[in-house]
Amino acid sequence: MTDLSRFAINQITTKNWSLRQAVDGYARQGVGGIAVWMNYLDDAGVKRGARMIRDAGLFVPSLCTSAWTNLADPTQFQASLDENRRRIDAAAEIGAGCLVVVPGGLAAGERDLVAARLRVREGLEALLPHALGAGVKLGLEPLHPMYAGDRSCLNSFAQCLALCDDLGMGTGIVADVYHCWWDPEFAAGLKQAGPRRILTFHLCDWLVPTRDVYQDRGMVGDGVIDFAFYRALLDEIAYDGPFEIELFSRLDWWERDGDETVRIAVERCGPLVAQRSA
Ligand code: ZN
Repeated sequence: MTDLSRFAINQITTKNWSLRQAVDGYARQGVGGIAVWMNYLDDAGVKRGARMIRDAGLFVPSLCTSAWTNLADPTQFQASLDENRRRIDAAAEIGAGCLVVVPGGLAAGERDLVAARLRVREGLEALLPHALGAGVKLGLEPLHPMYAGDRSCLNSFAQCLALCDDLGMGTGIVADVYHCWWDPEFAAGLKQAGPRRILTFHLCDWLVPTRDVYQDRGMVGDGVIDFAFYRALLDEIAYDGPFEIELFSRLDWWERDGDETVRIAVERCGPLVAQRSA
């Protein structure tokens, strides 16, 4: 029997399932945890959702995602901080280890990436006391640079790690192999981060060719990423946190029945995520 105690499914992987369906569907196949998305949690109701997850015995590596803070207008910026405080509280309620920070890229009409990144930092500094109070970490997720214009101006592992160094306690890294595998500094970054600052490790494969830059991520094993290499590296640094599969797949997995996606995710990831005795 495969040990899935460290394995979670990020619920965007089964996009067509409600929180209730995802909780039941993952638990049914022995998956240890669920990474929750805010919109599904809001649909279920935060308190009800929290109870559902607890009753099923699932752990929650993360809540996805922060509301975008990268807004040039000061009133909108403040409103986004309030929304993020609400999400931090929701993360605490469901027992999530972190809120995944995806802060937005450039503001509308903006061309100044340096200013955009400074605003993100300012937003994180403003949120940190609330996060510390709630016991929820701010999980900085470096996204592939192709998203810098619109989704996130946090784009390399080294950039996020430097930000964590500056912000200190209450922050960490959401390491997503899909976003970082191309980066010659990624492996060194993981070692430098160390096991405590890697809050969760996202799994999905890079397909060649990629047909849709937003929503054509591959099932583990279908692309070109060397997962065994990363597992060995994470073992070497004594990382003992979660592994989380996260598929955005308009062209394939979102078209399939959720039970099938979960079954194949378990088959493919099982050997990679099992607890190993030292
Ligand atoms: Zn991710």
